[in-house]
Amino acid sequence: TGSSEPPPKLVLDLERLQSVPAEKAGPLARYAATIQGQRGDYNGKVLSIRTDDLRTLAVIYDVPPAVLAEQLITWGVLNADARRAVAAED
Ligand code: C2E
Ligand code: C2E
Ligand code: C2E
Repeated sequence: TGSSEPPPKLVLDLERLQSVPAEKAGPLARYAATIQGQRGDYNGKVLSIRTDDLRTLAVIYDVPPAVLAEQLITWGVLNADARRAVAAED
């Protein structure tokens, strides 16, 4: 469904991420820091990531990708439009 829409962008809010309790945000924060290091992209307030990265993070958090996306949106660290990236998967 939604095949006529543009693909969603996944954008992490790095400032909001700093206000999430460390025991929850830790794996995501380390993953985002790794991507920043690989790109040499250290100064951004946001970080665009791959859909595959959200799937990888879902394995790390041991929840389905759609569940992780909802959690990250609730924390305010992921744009709400990103749920389209994982909503239609089975
Ligand atoms: P790579 O995947 O071999 O990509 C090499 C270069 O191609 C990247 O260098 C970037 O200039 C470009 N590139 C690849 N895919 C995209 C894309 O979807 N959008 C844009 N704008 N450019 C793209 P860069 O950025 O210096 O990254 C170096 C390496 O760091 C990448 O090699 C990859 O292994 C890793 N990396 C960087 N960002 C991410 C990410 O968001 N997720 C993952 N999984 N790896 C990343
Ligand atoms: P956009 O994708 O809506 O991003 C808006 C702004 O969010 C960017 O302005 C930048 O300040 C920030 N931003 C988004 N993702 C990242 C990120 O991974 N790292 C950092 N440090 N900042 C990020 P900016 O850079 O002036 O780009 C304006 C527009 O130009 C972007 O809007 C996008 O449409 C395009 N653009 C910029 N870089 C790329 C790119 O690597 N690939 C593609 N396809 N478009 C790009
Ligand atoms: P973007 O740069 O606007 O790229 C949008 C989509 O175009 C990417 O979605 C990917 O499917 C494709 N694409 C763009 N450049 C390349 C490339 O060099 N190689 C390949 N194989 N595909 C490419 P994706 O992967 O979900 O990435 C979403 C956004 O995350 C990208 O938007 C970009 O802002 C960021 N990103 C992902 N990987 C990298 C990377 O390696 N380096 C940098 N600097 N940004 C990346």
